[in-house]
Amino acid sequence: MFLGHFGLGFAGKKLAPALSLGALFLAVQLADLLFWILVLLGVEHFRIAPGATAVTPFDFYDYPWSHGLAALAVWGLVLGSFIYIGRRHRVAAVVFGLGVVSHWFLDAFVHRPDMPVFLRGPYAGLGLWNSVPLTVAAELLVFGGGIAIYARTTRATDRTGKWAFWSLVVFLVAAWVASIAGPPPPTERVVVWSGLAMWLFVPWGYWIDRHRAVRVR
Ligand SMILES: [Zn+2]
Repeated sequence: MFLGHFGLGFAGKKLAPALSLGALFLAVQLADLLFWILVLLGVEHFRIAPGATAVTPFDFYDYPWSHGLAALAVWGLVLGSFIYIGRRHRVAAVVFGLGVVSHWFLDAFVHRPDMPVFLRGPYAGLGLWNSVPLTVAAELLVFGGGIAIYARTTRATDRTGKWAFWSLVVFLVAAWVASIAGPPPPTERVVVWSGLAMWLFVPWGYWIDRHRAVRVR
């Protein structure tokens, strides 16, 4: 899943207004952000396998530390604790931790049964990626819902707050469409480096957050 994770990140602002959108993106995307680093380090593995599913040409066959449910629970607990220690804000800490774990459940909807529960299985996955229409519907539903919640929870305090937000929405959708409609990437290396570029969404989220305020009701 791609857009859906960001949808939950946007929605998280309503649950924990104290968390920056950048921190929320870090939480919901931590699994993927870690994955590309671990692949680069040779710790985790995937291969390009055109036709692996209707949506994605990748075979994710070894990623227990970034995409295991148990591992993500530990990551969420550790990072959530850091937030609690640093900010003394229980809601922010809990929402961050749950955001980290949410990645597993969203991915388990779309992935084949390759999502480890513990480090060496059992493996879960409902395989929504076998259907393009179902994947598109699910991604747009969660993403659209998150955008709607975020737009109602916050307001731009200047022009940047408006354009930084909507340009990110357009950029994410464009990147997602390109990944579904485009040809499979030529090499694993290309995939890893474009995957690492996803770290840019974290500062982008912080940037948006600094130019938007939570609406008071
Ligand atoms: Zn993932």
